[in-house]
Amino acid sequence: MIDVTRRQLFRTGAGLAAAAYLGFASDTENAVRLVGGPDWNALRKRVKGGVFLPQDDGYRPAARVFNDLFNERTPAAVALCADADEVKACLETAARNRIPIAARSGGHSYAGYSAQNDALMVNMTKANSVDVRADGTAVIGSGARLIDVYAELAKRGRSIPAGSCSSVGIAGLTLGGGLSVLNRKYGMTIDWVESIKVVTPDCRLRTASPTSEPELFWGLRGAGGGNFGIVTEFTFRTAPAPETVTVIWGDPGGFAIPVSAHAQVLAAWLRWAPVERDELWTFLRLNQNYCRLLGTYAGPKAEAQVLLERFYAEAGITAEQARLTFTEMSYGDAMLRYAGCALGDFPKCQADAKNTVGKHLGTSRMVEHTLDDATVAKVAELCHTDPNVWVQFDPLGGSVLPNPRYDAAFPHRGAIADLQIYAAAPNGRDAAAAAMAPVRDGLGELIGRGSYINYIDADQQDWLQASYGKNVARLKSVARRYDPHRILAFPQGITP
Ligand SMILES: Cc1cc2nc3c(=O)[nH]c(=O)nc-3n(C[C@H](O)[C@H](O)[C@H](O)COP(=O)(O)OP(=O)(O)OC[C@H]3O[C@@H](n4cnc5c(N)ncnc54)[C@H](O)[C@@H]3O)c2cc1C
Repeated sequence: MIDVTRRQLFRTGAGLAAAAYLGFASDTENAVRLVGGPDWNALRKRVKGGVFLPQDDGYRPAARVFNDLFNERTPAAVALCADADEVKACLETAARNRIPIAARSGGHSYAGYSAQNDALMVNMTKANSVDVRADGTAVIGSGARLIDVYAELAKRGRSIPAGSCSSVGIAGLTLGGGLSVLNRKYGMTIDWVESIKVVTPDCRLRTASPTSEPELFWGLRGAGGGNFGIVTEFTFRTAPAPETVTVIWGDPGGFAIPVSAHAQVLAAWLRWAPVERDELWTFLRLNQNYCRLLGTYAGPKAEAQVLLERFYAEAGITAEQARLTFTEMSYGDAMLRYAGCALGDFPKCQADAKNTVGKHLGTSRMVEHTLDDATVAKVAELCHTDPNVWVQFDPLGGSVLPNPRYDAAFPHRGAIADLQIYAAAPNGRDAAAAAMAPVRDGLGELIGRGSYINYIDADQQDWLQASYGKNVARLKSVARRYDPHRILAFPQGITP
């Protein structure tokens, strides 16, 4: 250990920063830590799941995230945490040593923010319990994946509206808002949250709810992961699962129509999908080569088919051209279907849920106002820009619409639809980013500049205003209150 005097230390910015944390340790101790680096052995004594350094066996699996574009990053250490005390130990270590810290729950951040170079990764995957109580509330550990949540809820005939990919984390998804294949009927994931347990950077475990830390509760529902604290547990209300769900599946080749007809179909979808019955949710995905629809109807197949007839008529296509299949199943099976798993087999789907996929980048925009046909034609043209880029239109409206009962930081409830924009990265990250940028920026000009924080995009210049809109100032004030020394700072944090 190197001996550094307090005076020497305070000549540096790091020393000034350390001074803010005298509550955690004596000045001398801070000084030694700053120069000698974190005492990982001390942290190991407090984190039962283990603390892995780059040279350790077990480091790479513990540090792994979903998107392979980010698996070359090297966190300084990965701590496998199971409870709030272990999270506190990590926050204390990061604050004392002024090293960045980032939680990893499902590991699906579009920009890979749960795996940051030289940061302490707080891997929450051991905190994955899902306890569905007799009163219908569900207490869910922040490390649970969506498939774990659906599996336990299905056993009790209950549901919450959450996302459709099996290995996405309930934590990141909920903190950003949570859009799902039934959000028009059941609202957003955040609408079902009763309370959130979170360790704030001052190492206090707090319960955020409408009556306890209400401003923190407001911010945690929509500001996106990585801000204000590290969540350890959510309590959700749940709804009875719909008895019958009809899954509407489009042919992988999409509609049997020429590319020149895409604009007309998109215009029809925009007029129809966001205002159709709330039970129906359909997305339209466009690329140079296809126009494909998938969807979910909370009800029987015959009703879904009648609603789709309205769309065909509006779009000027026939049922034969649409090439859709309609299959009735339980809600649980519908979630398995979206996860690409065999129906009726949650255990296998849980075991197979993949930790990584191929490389791709994603970003988003919101359709914030109605579009005339000439604008829709330009939008369709942008969707055709590059064979490696595709755009998916997801309807909002219905139960997503603004409702004072669900006041939270998610700012896009009045939008007509959200757009997911993806670029495959067969030629690496930069090529994918270059292909995606004109589509994202062009769509921003045409349809509205809003974006969904859960589709966070490291290259998006207008991300702060786009993600938070009118809530920017209020969110900054929540961040200043709970993380005044920016322990949780990251490039697209509310206080970066
Ligand atoms: C294949 C795929 C499908 C998706 N489908 C949907 C969908 O259907 N609906 C939808 O709304 N979104 C969807 N998303 C987006 C998803 O909601 C976000 O990527 C979300 O942030 C992922 O959360 P995570 O816990 O898996 O990721 P992580 O990478 O673990 O975390 C995301 C961010 O939150 C922080 N964080 C993680 N854990 C915590 C914690 N416990 N406390 C505080 N901060 C934390 C991380 O540091 C990071 O900044 C999808 C993403 C992918 C890749």
